[in-house]
Amino acid sequence: MLDHIAETSASAAGQTRASAFPPGVAWIDGRFVSMEEARIPVLDWGFLRSDATYDVVHVWQGKFFRLDAHVERFQRSVEKLRMKLPFERAELEAILHACVRRAGLRDAYVEMICTRGHSPDFSRDPRKAINRFIAFAIPFGWIATEEQRRRGLSLWVASIPRIPPASVDPTVKNYHWLDLVQGMFEAYDNNAESVVLSDGAGHITEGPGFNLFAVKDGRVYTTDRGVLEGITRRTALELCAELGLETQVAPLPLETLRSADEAFITSTAGGIMPVGQLDGKAYTQPCPGPITSALSQLYWSKHEDPAWTTPVDYDSADS
Ligand code: PLP
Repeated sequence: MLDHIAETSASAAGQTRASAFPPGVAWIDGRFVSMEEARIPVLDWGFLRSDATYDVVHVWQGKFFRLDAHVERFQRSVEKLRMKLPFERAELEAILHACVRRAGLRDAYVEMICTRGHSPDFSRDPRKAINRFIAFAIPFGWIATEEQRRRGLSLWVASIPRIPPASVDPTVKNYHWLDLVQGMFEAYDNNAESVVLSDGAGHITEGPGFNLFAVKDGRVYTTDRGVLEGITRRTALELCAELGLETQVAPLPLETLRSADEAFITSTAGGIMPVGQLDGKAYTQPCPGPITSALSQLYWSKHEDPAWTTPVDYDSADS
């Protein structure tokens, strides 16, 4: 027992093993700390009640991609949950830049979070809680591995439907993921690599960290409801317009996904990535299909476009 305690405290000090956290830098409670040191109090409602919102933006080759869109969505989410950020937008963005700079990253996954926080006297009244802002930058991570991006992800349609939008507003980016995580286990049990959830009435919604698109007869389909309005989803729709592709943003029947020529997912954690199989059945076209490939190529080329990118401020001095 004592041995166990000694080992725990030694490892917490980083003395006996490599860190169990990715390298990176977080901002929490007024300080920049390593990922290992970034902790929230157990009484924070973000943990106890999943009462939190967040956003994730990526940095690619030293530039934020669509930072404005992510920060604006985050601010809207905070407002919808009746929380308050302790900073104005410029200060918030300066913290994001500083996390990336201090972490020394060129390709990064950058998360901003607002939790309800905790109330000093354990009040059950959410108005008494002091909201907490947290940010961190860690190395860029992909939803799909390199091999999966080459040959297409194998997706499973879960038996569990997504939480209805009338209960939890999916346009507020949130951590209500029990349905998605249980769905992932169902997918693994069926030899698939990830999962997509329906609305319980025959339409497709989203998966853990991504929106979903189907392509049929040259037209691109995605749902208009029950999902986070992903910034990559918006980007994909804008790129479709640029390529002159017709789109339909409306409830997406499972049948359309099953009978599609191509399917792809969209996420800040990897962009536009092909789906190769659905419920163990491969799509008939070679994967990635031509439309998925064209959109993905254009997506990555936009990472050079000054209109959609913000160079990370690597030069400011950190105290
Ligand atoms: N849907 C859910 C549930 C998500 O968590 C995410 C991203 O994390 C997405 C969709 C994709 O959103 P974005 O393109 O803004 O990364």
